[in-house]
Amino acid sequence: MAVGFGFDIHRLAPGRALRLGGVEIPHPRGLAGHSDGDVLLHAVIDALLGAAGRGDIGERFPDTDPAWKDADSAGLLRRVMEELKDAGAVVNLDVTVLAEEPKLAPHRAAITTRLASLLGTSRVSVKAKTMEGLGPVGAGEAIACYAVVQLA
Ligand code: MG
Repeated sequence: MAVGFGFDIHRLAPGRALRLGGVEIPHPRGLAGHSDGDVLLHAVIDALLGAAGRGDIGERFPDTDPAWKDADSAGLLRRVMEELKDAGAVVNLDVTVLAEEPKLAPHRAAITTRLASLLGTSRVSVKAKTMEGLGPVGAGEAIACYAVVQLA
């Protein structure tokens, strides 16, 4: 049994689609990044790699590699799941998204379902919080995510 932890933060920018947990969420701004900027999936990928002791997302999918430009992060997650097949199955996933906006409650079920399908477990928990107006997340400049995963 192994536990892994992941964190990520991306800046919100106009002219980008907002993708969280592999789900597109209607919003005037999206997450900037070399890939699609899906901060939630990036935190999950780092948690998985951490549980398996296999480095981090940055060394696997460097933002200097044109191959990952605008990459669908769900595709990156599928690659990592394939690579970690020998490290065990996902027992459960727990994530906390930090976002001042948009409100994530209406999208929580869709995100949970997508994560369950990508990870092959129904034990998925998605929580969302604001930062009470504090810091860059609180100012609506960024969205951050923490993820914890268990492999067995
Ligand atoms: Mg990232």
